[in-house]
Amino acid sequence: MKCARGEGFSKGELKRYGNIEISPAAGVLNYGQGLFEGLKAYRTRDGNIVLFRPNENALRMRAGAERMCMPAPTVDQFLETVKETVLANERWIPPAGKGSLYVRPLLMGSGSVLGIAPAPEYTFLIYVSPVGNYFKEGLSPINLVIENDFHRASPGGTGGVKTIGNYAAVLKAHTAAKAKGYSDVLYLDCVHKKYLEEVSSCNVFVVKGNTICTPAIKGTILPGITRKSIIDIARGLGFEVLEQLVSVDELLNADEVFCTGTAVVVSPVGSITYMDERTAFGDGKVGRVSQQLYTALTSLQMGLSEDQKGWIVKLK
Ligand code: PMP
Repeated sequence: MKCARGEGFSKGELKRYGNIEISPAAGVLNYGQGLFEGLKAYRTRDGNIVLFRPNENALRMRAGAERMCMPAPTVDQFLETVKETVLANERWIPPAGKGSLYVRPLLMGSGSVLGIAPAPEYTFLIYVSPVGNYFKEGLSPINLVIENDFHRASPGGTGGVKTIGNYAAVLKAHTAAKAKGYSDVLYLDCVHKKYLEEVSSCNVFVVKGNTICTPAIKGTILPGITRKSIIDIARGLGFEVLEQLVSVDELLNADEVFCTGTAVVVSPVGSITYMDERTAFGDGKVGRVSQQLYTALTSLQMGLSEDQKGWIVKLK
């Protein structure tokens, strides 16, 4: 779908996957005026095709568009386009329990602009790909390294929205961490350099006894939809969940640590390396709380437990 600045998006069309043509002076290529989303379509055991809270992705894209001076599709346009794209690619959705279809909506300034300014024209498109587990470890614990010299986002920056530049900021640290055998990087705040922010593609939670803490949303971390859902599920299961500043000390003294995200679902953290020292959590097995929350979330997504909150959207 396309639209000019100040106008709405017109109805788009389905196309076979392939390269797109874009102006070399496009706002997205020169000034990073781009946003994306990530959600998954699942096949449930009873044969339905479902999405998990897609309206939250639509709203997050709209909030991001406001920050990036872009028009965005309406919630209805977003949902309709996602549904149409998923159903047109139904054959690529793995069997129930064997993976999912990752759906990537992309919104960008596609019009030409020479000086720094919002582009005069925008393109919204969606592509899809079947996926398995994000981390090769699956539900077994992942190993993170804390990065002191690189930051994902700064106060007043764009860390709170899903804009493409945030991922450019993590590329170097992320690649170096992978080369050293870590699963991913955990970033600290750039002011005090002691409070947790998030991982390159997921939010982080720290468990101590019956209390679960996660960094509060304050503009530098992405308001994850899985994060929000896990907070709700954990409270429903009787945990105390606090959204606040979480220091490295609290992290290293935790009983359990886990990450959440559409791609990673709930991933237990087996160890954290900070200042070249490795701290391990648990006995190398998946922690009790991570397992409980993983099971609660995936049962809901797989259609194995009742959707009391209305989070599941059935496409078929
Ligand atoms: N933080 C970042 C930087 C991410 O890219 C993602 C993935 N979208 C998340 C957190 C988790 O968000 P969600 O649960 O909505 O996938």
